[in-house]
Amino acid sequence: MGATLDLVVVGAGIVGLSVALAAARKGKKVLVVERNAKAIGASIRNFGFITISGQKAGEHWERARRTRDVWAEVAEQAGIAVIHRGSVLPAYRPEAEAVMEAFLTTPMGMECRRLTPVEALAHVPALRADGMRAALWSPHELRVESREAIPKVAAWLEQRHGVSFQWNTVVTAIDGTRISTSRGPIEADACVVCPGDDFSTLFPQRVAAYGLRICTLQMLRVMPAIRTRFGAAVMSDLSYGRYEGFADLPEAAALCRRLDVEASEMRGLGIHLIAVQSADGSLVVGDSHVYGDAPEPFAKDRIDALIMEAFDQVFDLPGRRVVERWCGTYASARDRVVMVDRPADNIRLVMVTGGTGASTGFALGEQVVDTLFA
Ligand SMILES: Cc1cc2nc3c(=O)[nH]c(=O)nc-3n(C[C@H](O)[C@H](O)[C@H](O)COP(=O)(O)OP(=O)(O)OC[C@H]3O[C@@H](n4cnc5c(N)ncnc54)[C@H](O)[C@@H]3O)c2cc1C
Repeated sequence: MGATLDLVVVGAGIVGLSVALAAARKGKKVLVVERNAKAIGASIRNFGFITISGQKAGEHWERARRTRDVWAEVAEQAGIAVIHRGSVLPAYRPEAEAVMEAFLTTPMGMECRRLTPVEALAHVPALRADGMRAALWSPHELRVESREAIPKVAAWLEQRHGVSFQWNTVVTAIDGTRISTSRGPIEADACVVCPGDDFSTLFPQRVAAYGLRICTLQMLRVMPAIRTRFGAAVMSDLSYGRYEGFADLPEAAALCRRLDVEASEMRGLGIHLIAVQSADGSLVVGDSHVYGDAPEPFAKDRIDALIMEAFDQVFDLPGRRVVERWCGTYASARDRVVMVDRPADNIRLVMVTGGTGASTGFALGEQVVDTLFA
């Protein structure tokens, strides 16, 4: 008897939803199986910042461009608000300005441009003008509210594309076309496992071969004292020294050396600044990166204080209040930004291993589905 399902996807984070969408668009009958009653992992804890400028050059940057286009389509159809577009990266140190200028000469910089401080403030009036040398304008980015967007993507997949969901169900083993779950077995022709940072439930030996670590991030929601408009996402000098699309440029070496002296504690904790705005005017602000073999359970006040120090260096928002704090985790690899493993011809194990799944997941889902059903 043939299996009635073409594909089971394990995990209802953005990577699993992306695989489900790509397969459904090929006319496949898809079931997503998720351990929790709703997605509660990295995909709803992030900035909802669909980033292109700053992604690793080459294939990953291309993935981000494609993913942004899919997000634009999905957002419109699923009723997801795009809260702002583009990003502004002010450069306060001459070394950051040099990285910005170098980036603009690469193919990735072609649609971006240099802004004067006055032009930067026209996008984001809360920026500090004093000491700002220039800013990078990138037109590509989108910002969605992930905690609302991810459930809406799942509901839209169900209604529009006929994707089924089985919540509160753990997949415990996969053997050929038989998928064992905490609620009994399922038969499907193919299975794609998108477990986020769960390294131990499915194919643990195969996952172990990649030497992955867990990265824990601290995040804050900040309410300005007076309403201020963010017309774009904001990053900072620290981001030019961290995001691979900038930090891999030779010009970044001098910036990193300077940051290692002037901001050594922040650099040691992997802190850089991203600030994006929500519909109620509050700002999602982060983040830090602490690596280990398990999620870090305890959020450190010192890390939050350093993130807010980085925030106050870039924004002039006296009286701002922290109104929410949370941690998130993701799978991290030293040597790759994505991991696609092939336990069998009809099975794939997929992880985004560089903290960019919101920005690259839809394209990665298409790539995985193309090879799976080739
Ligand atoms: C704080 C933070 C900020 C970030 N900011 C950004 C950003 O702005 N832009 C960006 O592009 N990226 C960002 N990232 C990275 C991005 O969020 C992740 O790369 C992405 O969410 C990973 O998606 P995922 O589907 O693999 O994982 P998850 O969202 O963790 O989902 C995995 C799901 O699989 C389920 N699961 C695992 N095993 C099983 C099993 N055996 N059976 C059933 N279910 C199972 C889990 O319950 C979980 O729901 C950020 C990450 C964090 C933590």
